[in-house]
Amino acid sequence: MEIIPNYILSNLTTFKIGGPADFFVSVISVEELKAALKLVREKSLEVFVLGNGSNVVISDEGFRGLIIHNQIKGLEIETEGVITIMAGENWDDVVAKSVANNLAGIECLSGVPGSAGGAVVQNIGAYGQTLGDVVTGVTACQTDSGESRVFSRTECEFEYRSSFFKNNPGKYILTAVKLQLKLNGEPTISYAHVKKHFENKAKPTLSAVRDFIIRLRASKGYLIMSGYDSYNTAGSFFKNPIVGYEQFEQLKPILGDASLNRFWETPKGVKIAAAYLTEQAGFAKGYVDGNVGISPKHSLSIINLGKATATEVKKFADKIKKVVLAKFHVQLEEEILYIGKF
Ligand SMILES: Cc1cc2nc3c(=O)[nH]c(=O)nc-3n(C[C@H](O)[C@H](O)[C@H](O)COP(=O)(O)OP(=O)(O)OC[C@H]3O[C@@H](n4cnc5c(N)ncnc54)[C@H](O)[C@@H]3O)c2cc1C
Repeated sequence: MEIIPNYILSNLTTFKIGGPADFFVSVISVEELKAALKLVREKSLEVFVLGNGSNVVISDEGFRGLIIHNQIKGLEIETEGVITIMAGENWDDVVAKSVANNLAGIECLSGVPGSAGGAVVQNIGAYGQTLGDVVTGVTACQTDSGESRVFSRTECEFEYRSSFFKNNPGKYILTAVKLQLKLNGEPTISYAHVKKHFENKAKPTLSAVRDFIIRLRASKGYLIMSGYDSYNTAGSFFKNPIVGYEQFEQLKPILGDASLNRFWETPKGVKIAAAYLTEQAGFAKGYVDGNVGISPKHSLSIINLGKATATEVKKFADKIKKVVLAKFHVQLEEEILYIGKF
Protein backbone atom coordinates (compact mmCIF):
# COMPACT_ATOMS: atom_id res chain seq x y z
CA MET A 1 0.00 0.00 0.00
CA GLU A 2 1.54 3.28 -1.11
CA ILE A 3 0.41 6.70 0.06
CA ILE A 4 1.00 9.10 -2.84
CA PRO A 5 1.12 12.87 -2.20
CA ASN A 6 -0.33 15.44 -4.63
CA TYR A 7 -2.23 12.97 -6.74
CA ILE A 8 -4.23 14.39 -9.69
CA LEU A 9 -7.75 12.97 -9.60
CA SER A 10 -9.19 13.92 -13.01
CA ASN A 11 -8.35 10.61 -14.68
CA LEU A 12 -10.16 8.69 -11.96
CA THR A 13 -13.46 10.36 -12.82
CA THR A 14 -15.74 9.93 -15.83
CA PHE A 15 -16.04 13.75 -16.13
CA LYS A 16 -12.21 13.87 -16.46
CA ILE A 17 -12.18 16.81 -14.05
CA GLY A 18 -10.54 17.28 -10.67
CA GLY A 19 -7.42 18.76 -9.08
CA PRO A 20 -4.92 17.07 -6.76
CA ALA A 21 -5.59 15.20 -3.54
CA ASP A 22 -3.13 15.97 -0.74
CA PHE A 23 -2.76 12.20 -0.34
CA PHE A 24 -4.01 9.23 -2.33
CA VAL A 25 -4.05 5.52 -1.67
CA SER A 26 -5.44 2.60 -3.61
CA VAL A 27 -6.55 -0.27 -1.35
CA ILE A 28 -6.98 -3.86 -2.56
CA SER A 29 -7.97 -5.58 0.69
CA VAL A 30 -9.95 -4.87 3.85
CA GLU A 31 -6.65 -5.04 5.80
CA GLU A 32 -5.18 -2.27 3.60
CA LEU A 33 -8.34 -0.22 4.06
CA LYS A 34 -8.07 -0.57 7.85
CA ALA A 35 -4.39 0.45 7.72
CA ALA A 36 -5.32 3.53 5.67
CA LEU A 37 -8.04 4.44 8.17
CA LYS A 38 -5.55 4.08 11.03
CA LEU A 39 -3.38 6.66 9.29
CA VAL A 40 -6.41 8.92 8.86
CA ARG A 41 -7.02 8.78 12.61
CA GLU A 42 -3.37 9.27 13.55
CA LYS A 43 -2.91 12.30 11.27
CA SER A 44 -6.48 13.65 11.71
CA LEU A 45 -7.00 13.71 7.94
CA GLU A 46 -10.20 14.35 6.04
CA VAL A 47 -11.07 11.24 4.07
CA PHE A 48 -13.06 10.52 0.94
CA VAL A 49 -13.59 7.15 -0.69
CA LEU A 50 -13.69 7.06 -4.45
CA GLY A 51 -15.13 4.19 -6.45
CA ASN A 52 -15.05 4.58 -10.24
CA GLY A 53 -15.67 8.34 -10.08
CA SER A 54 -18.80 8.19 -12.24
CA ASN A 55 -21.04 10.30 -10.07
CA VAL A 56 -18.77 13.06 -8.82
CA VAL A 57 -17.51 16.48 -9.84
CA ILE A 58 -14.21 17.03 -8.05
CA SER A 59 -13.10 20.60 -7.39
CA ASP A 60 -10.32 22.12 -9.52
CA GLU A 61 -8.52 22.67 -6.22
CA GLY A 62 -8.72 18.96 -5.51
CA PHE A 63 -9.22 17.48 -2.06
CA ARG A 64 -7.50 18.43 1.20
CA GLY A 65 -7.03 15.07 2.82
CA LEU A 66 -6.71 11.41 1.84
CA ILE A 67 -8.56 9.90 -1.10
CA ILE A 68 -9.04 6.16 -0.68
CA HIS A 69 -9.56 4.46 -4.03
CA ASN A 70 -11.52 1.31 -3.33
CA GLN A 71 -10.11 -1.53 -5.40
CA ILE A 72 -11.20 -4.38 -3.12
CA LYS A 73 -12.50 -6.95 -5.59
CA GLY A 74 -14.20 -10.33 -5.45
CA LEU A 75 -17.53 -11.97 -6.20
CA GLU A 76 -18.93 -15.16 -4.76
CA ILE A 77 -22.10 -16.86 -5.91
CA GLU A 78 -23.64 -18.69 -2.97
CA THR A 79 -26.70 -20.94 -2.89
CA GLU A 80 -30.14 -20.01 -4.23
CA GLY A 81 -29.31 -16.73 -5.87
CA VAL A 82 -27.35 -15.14 -3.05
CA ILE A 83 -24.22 -13.32 -4.20
CA THR A 84 -21.62 -11.47 -2.19
CA ILE A 85 -19.65 -8.79 -3.99
CA MET A 86 -16.67 -6.81 -2.76
CA ALA A 87 -17.30 -3.08 -3.06
CA GLY A 88 -14.48 -2.38 -5.54
CA GLU A 89 -15.90 -4.72 -8.20
CA ASN A 90 -16.91 -3.04 -11.43
CA TRP A 91 -20.72 -2.92 -11.33
CA ASP A 92 -21.31 -4.07 -14.88
CA ASP A 93 -19.06 -7.12 -14.35
CA VAL A 94 -21.38 -8.05 -11.48
CA VAL A 95 -24.41 -7.83 -13.78
CA ALA A 96 -22.65 -9.79 -16.54
CA LYS A 97 -21.75 -12.61 -14.13
CA SER A 98 -25.26 -12.71 -12.64
CA VAL A 99 -26.86 -12.92 -16.07
CA ALA A 100 -24.39 -15.61 -17.17
CA ASN A 101 -25.38 -17.61 -14.09
CA ASN A 102 -29.12 -17.21 -14.76
CA LEU A 103 -29.66 -14.92 -11.80
CA ALA A 104 -32.46 -12.43 -12.34
CA GLY A 105 -32.93 -9.11 -10.56
CA ILE A 106 -30.24 -6.73 -11.84
CA GLU A 107 -30.27 -7.34 -15.63
CA CYS A 108 -31.84 -3.89 -16.27
CA LEU A 109 -28.93 -2.31 -14.40
CA SER A 110 -26.57 -3.50 -17.15
CA GLY A 111 -24.06 -0.92 -18.28
CA VAL A 112 -24.42 1.47 -15.33
CA PRO A 113 -20.85 2.73 -14.78
CA GLY A 114 -19.24 2.57 -11.37
CA SER A 115 -18.21 0.22 -8.59
CA ALA A 116 -20.49 -2.04 -6.55
CA GLY A 117 -19.89 0.16 -3.48
CA GLY A 118 -20.80 3.34 -5.36
CA ALA A 119 -23.88 1.59 -6.76
CA VAL A 120 -25.16 0.88 -3.23
CA VAL A 121 -24.37 4.38 -1.93
CA GLN A 122 -26.24 5.95 -4.85
CA ASN A 123 -28.94 3.24 -4.90
CA ILE A 124 -28.68 3.04 -8.68
CA GLY A 125 -31.73 2.48 -10.78
CA ALA A 126 -32.51 2.09 -14.45
CA TYR A 127 -35.16 0.69 -16.78
CA GLY A 128 -37.46 -0.63 -14.05
CA GLN A 129 -34.98 -1.96 -11.48
CA THR A 130 -33.47 -0.39 -8.37
CA LEU A 131 -30.47 -1.91 -6.65
CA GLY A 132 -31.79 -1.38 -3.10
CA ASP A 133 -34.64 -3.80 -3.82
CA VAL A 134 -32.25 -6.77 -4.02
CA VAL A 135 -29.68 -5.79 -1.38
CA THR A 136 -29.97 -7.95 1.74
CA GLY A 137 -26.93 -6.67 3.62
CA VAL A 138 -23.90 -4.41 3.43
CA THR A 139 -20.59 -4.71 5.27
CA ALA A 140 -18.87 -1.42 5.98
CA CYS A 141 -15.88 -0.16 7.91
CA GLN A 142 -16.49 2.67 10.33
CA THR A 143 -14.06 5.44 9.42
CA ASP A 144 -13.40 6.70 12.94
CA SER A 145 -12.81 3.29 14.55
CA GLY A 146 -11.84 1.03 11.64
CA GLU A 147 -14.36 -1.54 12.87
CA SER A 148 -16.53 -3.53 10.47
CA ARG A 149 -20.27 -3.51 10.80
CA VAL A 150 -23.07 -5.28 8.91
CA PHE A 151 -26.12 -3.25 7.85
CA SER A 152 -29.47 -4.86 7.06
CA ARG A 153 -31.43 -3.60 4.06
CA THR A 154 -33.65 -1.54 6.38
CA GLU A 155 -30.60 0.04 7.98
CA CYS A 156 -29.35 1.04 4.52
CA GLU A 157 -32.36 3.42 4.33
CA PHE A 158 -32.62 3.20 0.57
CA GLU A 159 -34.53 5.94 -1.18
CA TYR A 160 -34.56 7.30 -4.73
CA ARG A 161 -30.83 7.66 -5.60
CA SER A 162 -30.00 7.81 -1.92
CA SER A 163 -29.05 5.69 1.07
CA PHE A 164 -27.95 5.94 4.69
CA PHE A 165 -24.34 6.03 3.38
CA LYS A 166 -25.01 8.90 1.00
CA ASN A 167 -26.68 10.85 3.81
CA ASN A 168 -23.79 10.18 6.20
CA PRO A 169 -20.78 10.92 3.97
CA GLY A 170 -17.38 9.83 5.22
CA LYS A 171 -18.71 7.80 8.18
CA TYR A 172 -18.57 4.33 6.64
CA ILE A 173 -16.62 2.73 3.83
CA LEU A 174 -18.45 -0.14 2.18
CA THR A 175 -16.40 -3.29 1.73
CA ALA A 176 -19.00 -5.86 0.62
CA VAL A 177 -22.62 -6.16 -0.41
CA LYS A 178 -24.94 -9.16 -0.43
CA LEU A 179 -27.72 -9.48 -3.01
CA GLN A 180 -30.65 -11.84 -3.20
CA LEU A 181 -31.29 -12.60 -6.88
CA LYS A 182 -33.67 -15.11 -8.41
CA LEU A 183 -32.13 -18.28 -9.82
CA ASN A 184 -33.73 -19.02 -13.22
CA GLY A 185 -36.01 -16.01 -12.68
CA GLU A 186 -37.57 -14.03 -15.49
CA PRO A 187 -36.23 -10.66 -16.61
CA THR A 188 -38.00 -7.49 -15.52
CA ILE A 189 -39.83 -5.96 -18.46
CA SER A 190 -41.67 -2.98 -17.03
CA TYR A 191 -40.05 0.12 -18.51
CA ALA A 192 -41.94 1.46 -21.55
CA HIS A 193 -39.01 1.27 -24.03
CA VAL A 194 -38.10 -2.24 -22.94
CA LYS A 195 -41.73 -3.40 -23.05
CA LYS A 196 -42.18 -2.01 -26.54
CA HIS A 197 -39.06 -3.70 -27.84
CA PHE A 198 -40.05 -7.15 -26.58
CA GLU A 199 -43.79 -7.04 -27.27
CA ASN A 200 -45.02 -9.66 -29.72
CA LYS A 201 -41.73 -11.51 -29.37
CA ALA A 202 -40.89 -14.80 -27.65
CA LYS A 203 -40.16 -14.45 -23.92
CA PRO A 204 -36.67 -12.90 -23.76
CA THR A 205 -33.78 -14.39 -21.81
CA LEU A 206 -31.89 -12.41 -19.20
CA SER A 207 -29.05 -12.02 -21.63
CA ALA A 208 -31.34 -10.73 -24.42
CA VAL A 209 -32.60 -8.05 -22.02
CA ARG A 210 -29.04 -7.21 -20.96
CA ASP A 211 -27.96 -6.84 -24.61
CA PHE A 212 -30.92 -4.62 -25.43
CA ILE A 213 -30.33 -2.39 -22.39
CA ILE A 214 -26.67 -1.96 -23.33
CA ARG A 215 -27.65 -0.90 -26.85
CA LEU A 216 -30.34 1.41 -25.48
CA ARG A 217 -27.86 3.04 -23.10
CA ALA A 218 -25.33 3.47 -25.93
CA SER A 219 -27.97 5.24 -28.04
CA LYS A 220 -28.43 7.75 -25.18
CA GLY A 221 -24.72 8.27 -24.53
CA TYR A 222 -25.20 6.59 -21.13
CA LEU A 223 -22.64 3.86 -21.62
CA ILE A 224 -18.91 3.88 -20.93
CA MET A 225 -17.75 0.60 -22.40
CA SER A 226 -15.02 -0.27 -24.87
CA GLY A 227 -16.35 -0.45 -28.42
CA TYR A 228 -18.88 2.34 -27.82
CA ASP A 229 -18.57 6.12 -28.11
CA SER A 230 -18.86 7.91 -24.80
CA TYR A 231 -18.80 11.39 -23.29
CA ASN A 232 -16.99 12.92 -20.34
CA THR A 233 -19.99 13.03 -18.04
CA ALA A 234 -21.48 11.72 -14.81
CA GLY A 235 -24.71 10.61 -16.51
CA SER A 236 -27.85 12.31 -15.18
CA PHE A 237 -26.71 15.48 -13.48
CA PHE A 238 -30.03 16.12 -11.72
CA LYS A 239 -32.56 13.86 -10.03
CA ASN A 240 -36.11 13.70 -11.33
CA PRO A 241 -37.92 16.06 -8.93
CA ILE A 242 -40.92 14.82 -6.97
CA VAL A 243 -43.65 17.44 -6.62
CA GLY A 244 -46.92 17.62 -4.67
CA TYR A 245 -50.29 17.25 -6.44
CA GLU A 246 -51.04 20.98 -6.33
CA GLN A 247 -47.82 21.82 -8.15
CA PHE A 248 -48.34 18.90 -10.51
CA GLU A 249 -51.71 20.37 -11.57
CA GLN A 250 -49.91 23.58 -12.53
CA LEU A 251 -47.28 21.71 -14.51
CA LYS A 252 -49.77 19.37 -16.22
CA PRO A 253 -50.45 21.61 -19.24
CA ILE A 254 -46.80 21.51 -20.29
CA LEU A 255 -46.29 17.83 -19.43
CA GLY A 256 -49.07 16.37 -21.57
CA ASP A 257 -50.66 13.00 -20.83
CA ALA A 258 -49.13 10.05 -18.98
CA SER A 259 -48.39 8.09 -22.17
CA LEU A 260 -45.60 10.57 -22.97
CA ASN A 261 -43.60 9.32 -19.96
CA ARG A 262 -42.88 12.77 -18.61
CA PHE A 263 -44.23 12.04 -15.14
CA TRP A 264 -44.88 9.07 -12.88
CA GLU A 265 -46.97 8.69 -9.73
CA THR A 266 -44.97 7.68 -6.64
CA PRO A 267 -46.04 7.20 -3.00
CA LYS A 268 -44.39 10.55 -2.22
CA GLY A 269 -45.93 12.63 -5.01
CA VAL A 270 -45.48 12.94 -8.76
CA LYS A 271 -42.03 12.39 -10.19
CA ILE A 272 -41.32 14.68 -13.15
CA ALA A 273 -38.79 13.94 -15.90
CA ALA A 274 -36.04 16.46 -15.17
CA ALA A 275 -34.78 16.00 -18.75
CA TYR A 276 -38.08 17.34 -20.08
CA LEU A 277 -37.97 20.38 -17.79
CA THR A 278 -34.37 21.26 -18.68
CA GLU A 279 -35.14 20.88 -22.38
CA GLN A 280 -38.22 23.10 -22.10
CA ALA A 281 -36.10 25.61 -20.17
CA GLY A 282 -33.90 26.00 -23.26
CA PHE A 283 -31.13 23.47 -22.61
CA ALA A 284 -31.71 21.05 -25.45
CA LYS A 285 -29.49 18.16 -26.53
CA GLY A 286 -26.26 19.47 -28.05
CA TYR A 287 -26.45 22.88 -26.28
CA VAL A 288 -22.95 24.32 -25.86
CA ASP A 289 -21.76 26.89 -23.32
CA GLY A 290 -17.98 27.31 -23.65
CA ASN A 291 -16.23 24.16 -22.49
CA VAL A 292 -19.38 22.51 -21.20
CA GLY A 293 -22.67 21.54 -22.72
CA ILE A 294 -25.55 19.11 -22.88
CA SER A 295 -24.95 15.69 -24.41
CA PRO A 296 -26.16 15.47 -28.01
CA LYS A 297 -27.90 12.23 -26.99
CA HIS A 298 -29.54 13.05 -23.63
CA SER A 299 -30.65 16.37 -22.21
CA LEU A 300 -30.01 15.44 -18.57
CA SER A 301 -26.36 14.73 -19.15
CA ILE A 302 -23.96 17.64 -18.74
CA ILE A 303 -20.72 16.98 -20.59
CA ASN A 304 -17.16 18.22 -20.45
CA LEU A 305 -16.29 19.12 -24.02
CA GLY A 306 -12.60 18.56 -23.35
CA LYS A 307 -11.12 21.36 -21.29
CA ALA A 308 -13.86 22.15 -18.81
CA THR A 309 -13.09 22.95 -15.20
CA ALA A 310 -15.21 21.92 -12.24
CA THR A 311 -16.06 25.59 -11.71
CA GLU A 312 -17.42 25.84 -15.26
CA VAL A 313 -19.51 22.69 -14.79
CA LYS A 314 -21.02 23.98 -11.55
CA LYS A 315 -21.68 27.42 -13.04
CA PHE A 316 -23.49 25.82 -15.97
CA ALA A 317 -25.49 23.48 -13.72
CA ASP A 318 -26.46 26.41 -11.47
CA LYS A 319 -27.63 28.33 -14.54
CA ILE A 320 -29.88 25.41 -15.55
CA LYS A 321 -31.29 25.20 -12.02
CA LYS A 322 -32.00 28.93 -11.97
CA VAL A 323 -33.82 28.94 -15.30
CA VAL A 324 -35.89 25.82 -14.43
CA LEU A 325 -36.83 27.38 -11.07
CA ALA A 326 -37.84 30.67 -12.66
CA LYS A 327 -39.81 29.01 -15.44
CA PHE A 328 -41.48 26.07 -13.68
CA HIS A 329 -41.03 26.79 -9.94
CA VAL A 330 -39.28 23.44 -9.61
CA GLN A 331 -36.05 23.24 -7.62
CA LEU A 332 -33.74 20.73 -9.29
CA GLU A 333 -31.43 18.78 -7.02
CA GLU A 334 -28.11 17.31 -8.09
CA GLU A 335 -27.79 13.55 -8.45
CA ILE A 336 -24.01 14.00 -8.73
CA LEU A 337 -21.86 14.95 -5.76
CA TYR A 338 -19.56 17.96 -5.63
CA ILE A 339 -16.34 17.00 -3.88
CA GLY A 340 -13.90 19.53 -2.40
CA LYS A 341 -14.19 23.32 -2.34
CA PHE A 342 -16.50 25.15 -4.80
C1 LIG B 1 -22.60 7.58 -18.49
C2 LIG B 1 -23.22 7.41 -17.14
C3 LIG B 1 -24.46 6.79 -17.01
C4 LIG B 1 -25.04 6.62 -15.76
N1 LIG B 1 -26.26 6.00 -15.68
C5 LIG B 1 -26.83 5.80 -14.47
C6 LIG B 1 -28.08 5.13 -14.36
O1 LIG B 1 -28.67 4.69 -15.34
N2 LIG B 1 -28.61 4.98 -13.13
C7 LIG B 1 -27.99 5.44 -12.00
O2 LIG B 1 -28.53 5.27 -10.91
N3 LIG B 1 -26.78 6.05 -12.08
C8 LIG B 1 -26.19 6.25 -13.27
N4 LIG B 1 -24.99 6.89 -13.35
C9 LIG B 1 -24.33 7.38 -12.13
C10 LIG B 1 -23.24 6.41 -11.59
O3 LIG B 1 -22.95 5.44 -12.53
C11 LIG B 1 -23.65 5.72 -10.29
O4 LIG B 1 -24.03 6.63 -9.32
C12 LIG B 1 -22.53 4.83 -9.75
O5 LIG B 1 -23.09 3.87 -8.94
C13 LIG B 1 -21.44 5.54 -8.98
O6 LIG B 1 -20.47 4.58 -8.62
P1 LIG B 1 -18.94 4.96 -8.50
O7 LIG B 1 -18.19 3.79 -8.01
O8 LIG B 1 -18.46 5.56 -9.77
O9 LIG B 1 -19.03 6.06 -7.36
P2 LIG B 1 -18.17 7.39 -7.21
O10 LIG B 1 -18.60 8.37 -8.25
O11 LIG B 1 -16.74 7.08 -7.13
O12 LIG B 1 -18.69 7.89 -5.79
C14 LIG B 1 -20.05 8.24 -5.61
C15 LIG B 1 -20.33 8.29 -4.11
O13 LIG B 1 -20.25 6.97 -3.59
C16 LIG B 1 -19.30 6.95 -2.53
N5 LIG B 1 -18.64 5.66 -2.54
C17 LIG B 1 -18.13 4.98 -3.60
N6 LIG B 1 -17.64 3.79 -3.18
C18 LIG B 1 -17.83 3.74 -1.85
C19 LIG B 1 -17.54 2.79 -0.84
N7 LIG B 1 -16.92 1.65 -1.10
N8 LIG B 1 -17.89 3.08 0.44
C20 LIG B 1 -18.51 4.24 0.75
N9 LIG B 1 -18.82 5.18 -0.16
C21 LIG B 1 -18.48 4.93 -1.44
C22 LIG B 1 -18.36 8.09 -2.79
O14 LIG B 1 -17.71 8.49 -1.61
C23 LIG B 1 -19.33 9.12 -3.32
O15 LIG B 1 -19.99 9.71 -2.24
C24 LIG B 1 -24.38 7.08 -14.60
C25 LIG B 1 -23.11 7.67 -14.72
C26 LIG B 1 -22.53 7.84 -15.97
C27 LIG B 1 -21.17 8.44 -16.09
